[in-house]
Amino acid sequence: MSEKFDVIVVGAGPAGYVAAIRCAQLGLNTACVDKFADASGAPSLGGTCLNVGCIPSKALLDSSEKYEQAQHEFKAHGISVGKVGVDVPKMIARKDEIVSNLTKGIAGLFKANGITSIHGHGKLLASKTIEVVNHGKTEQYTAEHIILAVGSVPINIPVAEVDNQVILDNSGALDVDAVPKKLGVIGAGVIGLELGSVWNRLGSEVTLFEAADTFLPPVDKQISREVFRTFTKGQGLDIKLGAMVTATKANKKSVKVTYSLKGEEHTETFDKLIVAVGRRAATNNIAADEAGLKMDDRGRIDINDKCQTNISGVYAIGDAVKGPMLAHKGSEEGVYVAELIAGQKPHMNHDTIPWVIYTHPEIAWVGLNEDEAKAQGHEVKTGFFPFAANGRSLAMNEKGGRVKMVADANSDRILGVHILGPNASELIAEAVLAMEYSASTEDIARTIHAHPTLSEAFHEAALSVSDRALHKVN
Ligand code: FAD
Ligand code: NAD
Repeated sequence: MSEKFDVIVVGAGPAGYVAAIRCAQLGLNTACVDKFADASGAPSLGGTCLNVGCIPSKALLDSSEKYEQAQHEFKAHGISVGKVGVDVPKMIARKDEIVSNLTKGIAGLFKANGITSIHGHGKLLASKTIEVVNHGKTEQYTAEHIILAVGSVPINIPVAEVDNQVILDNSGALDVDAVPKKLGVIGAGVIGLELGSVWNRLGSEVTLFEAADTFLPPVDKQISREVFRTFTKGQGLDIKLGAMVTATKANKKSVKVTYSLKGEEHTETFDKLIVAVGRRAATNNIAADEAGLKMDDRGRIDINDKCQTNISGVYAIGDAVKGPMLAHKGSEEGVYVAELIAGQKPHMNHDTIPWVIYTHPEIAWVGLNEDEAKAQGHEVKTGFFPFAANGRSLAMNEKGGRVKMVADANSDRILGVHILGPNASELIAEAVLAMEYSASTEDIARTIHAHPTLSEAFHEAALSVSDRALHKVN
């Protein structure tokens, strides 16, 4: 006889594990099935985010930034150091330790909340039954409610087959044991820029091949132009827009990349090549035909605005469904669904999901960019403030970037905020909160910000919307 739960969550990434914890907090007898195993084959909770995504990439971004600062920034502060070296295996080991602590932390949270953790591949059968296969052993579990949080996997392209030796996906790119002299990256999106930055700071010569002609299309144009200049001219990333990789030939030590650019064919050889051309929902083999689970036209689990699938009592959240592929978006959906199941009336605002790209400077935004706001019929007014005019920023030796605010000209309501600059990842939280409370630029203009802080740039951007920024000529 199969074991019965109130809720079974399939997937223990930031969407699934958070959903499981919230269900347990609400008194529901909850199980969570996850198949992720670490390099030693041991179960490791936390999904893509903790194991091979957000956390390990940020650990390496932080280490590589410190290396960059020791080499190039300390001098400006009057600090001299001897020859600065980098021990890549140690850097990777530090990253692995952070991952291990955090994934074990999730196991601890499961235990503390009385969640049953089941290792293996989960598959939805008919009648809200989950079949779990682990090393050839099959078990079945049933539940009143099922939450599918199976996440996403990297998109593969036939011209560059990943072997995780020379041609790497995001997992392989986080485990390189020596600085590649020449690194190629296919895709100048979020992963390409973050991981490209890591290895560029550590000394690689980095070339990014981006198929599209536009750079970072969701980012406000004024900001993305400055980002492009900073990354190419300032930091030496070679970003080739409109470049299509047509073939690769790898041996054990290098890979020859053939690409077309402006109608001409070129070849270039790299020590490593990262493929970062997007991710797709991990929906292969997650439901038996008899379950009748409906997918959308992009292979994601089809859901309505309450994260409900076409099967009553079966929900889906996170990267496996529509919306941005971000950890905090999945986690918030997890809380939402748990509370819905428990009979509450939860709320989630999809219009205020922040984005952050953890390069240097960081790029962060929430809401609409100027073009999107105009396309939606708003009469738009904007304000901006450069970090070059912010005291705290200059004290930190950070001179680039800006805060841009987009507002509705009639209501003064903030429609979007776009930041390129130091600690943009933290600064964007104020913008999210402002938008969550439907703030006007005047609300921010009247809010006292501590001096000297980077947040004064946000304040000044709000003042600048009505041409009254105090530390810049409007
Ligand atoms: P996942 O984290 O993918 O978790 C799904 C889990 O389900 C996995 O453990 C998987 O093994 C398991 N699973 C799948 N199918 C089954 C099955 N049938 N049975 C059992 N288990 C199954 N987002 C951010 O917000 N900030 C960042 O800084 C950030 N950085 C990133 C950096 C990189 C390199 C990458 C690759 C991604 C990054 N992301 C970031 C995106 C973020 O990782 C994802 O949006 C997030 O992990 C999605 O959460 P999820 O729970 O939906 O899925
Ligand atoms: P992405 O969508 O951000 O970027 C992929 C890029 O590859 C795009 O610019 C696309 O035009 C380009 N591309 C697609 N096919 C190509 C081809 N054949 N040749 C050359 N270029 C091609 O995807 P990603 O960088 O793989 O990241 C996947 C997702 O993971 C992100 O969209 C994001 O949702 C999430 N993520 C988030 C963070 C963060 O929040 N800081 C960090 C990493 C990843």
